[in-house]
Amino acid sequence: DAMAFDLVTIPCLSDNYAFLLRDHDSGAVALIDVPEAAPIMAELDRRGWTLSQVWLTHHHPDHVQGLAELLTRFPAEVIGAKADAHRLPPLDRDVAEGDTVELGALKAEVLDVSGHTVGHIAFHVPDAKAAFTADSLMALGCGRLFEGTPAQMWDSLQKLAALPGDTTICSGHEYTAANAKFALTVDPDNPALISRAKDIDSARAKGQPTVPSPLSLELETNPFLRPADPAIRATLGMPDATDTEVFTEIRRRKDQF
Ligand code: ZN
Ligand code: FE
Repeated sequence: DAMAFDLVTIPCLSDNYAFLLRDHDSGAVALIDVPEAAPIMAELDRRGWTLSQVWLTHHHPDHVQGLAELLTRFPAEVIGAKADAHRLPPLDRDVAEGDTVELGALKAEVLDVSGHTVGHIAFHVPDAKAAFTADSLMALGCGRLFEGTPAQMWDSLQKLAALPGDTTICSGHEYTAANAKFALTVDPDNPALISRAKDIDSARAKGQPTVPSPLSLELETNPFLRPADPAIRATLGMPDATDTEVFTEIRRRKDQF
């Protein structure tokens, strides 16, 4: 029996996304990341929802800076990474990889997805077929390596790549159009990528978000999940390198793109 839930995407700031996940039976609502308070409060008001929990993915201001203001109107249990408790807003509960967070009948599994920052976590909710990945796995991309090594990010992406293909990847930014331009430079003949790039352009021309995205589509088109792909390796001139080496080169090229 499939669990009933709502998943709401909220555009914030210039290119961030926050998400609301609601368990129908209990009415419990989790907010994932808080780029700014106003659009999130407006969405909660519009739906007549209260907030049960806030799940923080990492400490960067564009993911936490709306929290204090939000809590004044919507008190909630704040959950974030134990490893980053010293630089996150005050937490009511700290979690690490392997921990489970219960939202009514829904259960979220915590994954360590270090790379963009060391301490970045993701929340996988199998019953909602959703994963909240923020600046780790992104639509057609992955986060910049501000703190972690390429090997760390590649480890993190492999954990996410191993989730069921019908998982909805709820990532943190609308960077997909720029990501597509880069992806085409390393994987120019991939028909699924060429087709997705067209879809992205038409969605953006209509002002529609390209986030969230299905993991199955990321596996087919996101070059950061595809260092094993022979065509990408041929384009990079790295036929015999390790996946980590190819990933590292793709990330290096993206930083210079
Ligand atoms: Zn970030
Ligand atoms: Fe961010």
